[in-house]
Amino acid sequence: MPVSPDDARLMDVLQGGRCFYCGEMVGAKATFDHLIPQAYGGIDDPANVVLAHRRCNQRKGDRLPTIDELDRFFQDRRTSRLGVWPPLRALRDADEGLEWIAVARAISQEK
Ligand SMILES: [Zn+2]
Repeated sequence: MPVSPDDARLMDVLQGGRCFYCGEMVGAKATFDHLIPQAYGGIDDPANVVLAHRRCNQRKGDRLPTIDELDRFFQDRRTSRLGVWPPLRALRDADEGLEWIAVARAISQEK
């Protein structure tokens, strides 16, 4: 389900009004960044989305999130109804070099 205005407000609170990537204040100019890019099957749902500056979102491009980013995301979401999309957990548990395979497999199990 796409991010609703309520979801976006909650995300803003969880992130303390800051961009997920650079940590600077972002406020109303935030864009939705998909942690697992939509180009690779990432869903358009709050459980796979963070708020980021447009430039930070563009700089991230189509890479997968790092371990540090995933851990930060899980921490932000641990008590939130916005949740965590299971393929992100599979990515965190993947062996080095097998991240893309782990993600693809987890996504196929979601369908
Ligand atoms: Zn930023």
